[in-house]
Parts: sequence; structure tokens; C-alpha cells
Amino acid sequence: MLEIKNLHAELEEEGKKILKGVNLSVKSGEVHAIMGPNGSGKSTTSYVLSGRDGYEVTEGSATLEGQELLDLGPEERAAAGLFLAFQYPVEIPGVGNMTFLRTAVNAQRKARGEEEMDATTFLKVVREKAKSLKIDADMLKRPVNVGFSGGEKKRNEILQMAMLEPKMCILDETDSGLDVDAMKLVAEGVNALRSPDRSFLVITHYQRLLDYIKPDVVHIMFDGRIIKSGGPELALEVEQNGYADLLAEAEGA
Ligand code: ADP
Ligand code: MG
Ligand code: MG
Repeated sequence: MLEIKNLHAELEEEGKKILKGVNLSVKSGEVHAIMGPNGSGKSTTSYVLSGRDGYEVTEGSATLEGQELLDLGPEERAAAGLFLAFQYPVEIPGVGNMTFLRTAVNAQRKARGEEEMDATTFLKVVREKAKSLKIDADMLKRPVNVGFSGGEKKRNEILQMAMLEPKMCILDETDSGLDVDAMKLVAEGVNALRSPDRSFLVITHYQRLLDYIKPDVVHIMFDGRIIKSGGPELALEVEQNGYADLLAEAEGA
């Protein structure tokens, strides 16, 4: 599904190198987690994959089902099936949440050569999915994320994801700032979307989200590289011992 090879990226303005050879291979239906200390390049990885401005890729590739993502604009990447839920969801004053969702869904369908979803079907689908995420009708009418609490913003991102039905979902610290109940809702939303033809990359600073979203593979990122990969037990090891041993082990290697 997603194949990242020797990805190097730097900050466009300062030329500061941030990603120093990321390698990652996520198969269809798999859930991978990326953990790592603050400043390791986890968010940068998701920004570079989404095509955000300000980063220059100097080496490497990232393909989605064989298609090079790095050659595409951000909208084309979304149309290709990539979805990113960010650590800090943006507020869009003046644009109703429902209007935003409908526009996004139809833009996606158009890019895939599918017909627009009619208004009645859209309403039915959005209400059903919103309900399961405990997003009330009022939140659907308000401007996107404006005045939403941290938990509401995260749930709203999962709603966007559920509506867009992407192939490859990347969640960047979707758990940060969430209380346990909100985190469980987010995790349930993600788990409901798990399927053999959809993959997830869950970026998290803490192990606790992974109690609810069970990963197939856990990667540890440090200083712009994946320094270790393993099963779910790797996340537990981090929770118990922190990163120090893993970093020392990687430096000794
Ligand atoms: P993580 O998500 O693992 O905490 P980030 O990808 O956010 O790490 O950051 C990696 C490194 O790049 C950090 O040292 C951070 O300070 C730096 N960095 C990222 N974006 C910027 C930016 N726009 N300006 C300056 N430094 C940045
Ligand atoms: Mg960080
Ligand atoms: Mg981050």
C-alpha cells in the first residue's frame, strides 16, 4: 500500500535536515504505529507525505499502490486515497462543517471519476457516521472546527476520514490532549474503518492509544530515521523503559 524508501527531507527556508533516510512499508489492511521522542521527525514525515509547503524532499520516494506521491499536489494525493488527520486540526471560519464535508466528498468522488453523492444520501450517511462518533447536529452546522474543543476537533477529523473512505490513513498524535473517553471514541472510529483494503499509520507519543488501536507493526523514530521496528510488544517496552535503551542500542549498532 504505502512504500517509503530512503526519504530525506529538509526545511525549505533554513535547509535544516529533518528526515535522514526513512524506510517504511505498510501492506494493505495493516496498522502501523510510529512512536519516538519529541522532535524525531514524526510530524514531518506526515507533512512531507501530504505535500505540505515548506519542506524539500532531497532524496527518496513514497509510493501509494505504486504511484509516486511526491510528484503529486496535495489534492491529487488525497484523490489517490491518502488522508491525514493532523496533530492540530485547522479551523475554517465561515465554512459550515457539513458544507465542507460535502465539498470534500464530492471533490474526492470527482477525482476518482465517480458521480456526486446526492444531498439526501449525503445527509443520511453523514448523520449516521456522526452519531457513532457522538458528534451532534449542532457541531455539523457550525464552521469547521471553530470553537470546537480538542476532543471535538479530533472526532471531527475521524468523521472526515470516515466520509472520504481513504485507502491510507495517517493519524498524527490524534490522541494528544484527549481524555480517555474521547480517545476511546477516536479509537472506535478508527477501528470501525479498519478493512483489508485500507491501511493506517498511527503516529503517537504515548503507548496508551495503542491499547485501543492494536497495531500490527510498531516503529521507533529518532533523529529522522526509523531506528527499530517490531510488534506491539515494542510499544509496551517503550512505555515501561522509555526511549533511552533503544536509542543507546541504535547508537551502538
Ligand atoms: P515530532 O513530530 O517527532 O515531534 P517534528 O517532525 O515535529 O517531530 O520535528 C522534527 C524536527 O524538525 C524538530 O527538531 C523540529 O524542531 C524541527 N522542525 C519541524 N518543522 C519546523 C519548522 N517549520 N521550523 C523549524 N523547525 C522545524
Ligand atoms: Mg512533536
Ligand atoms: Mg509531532
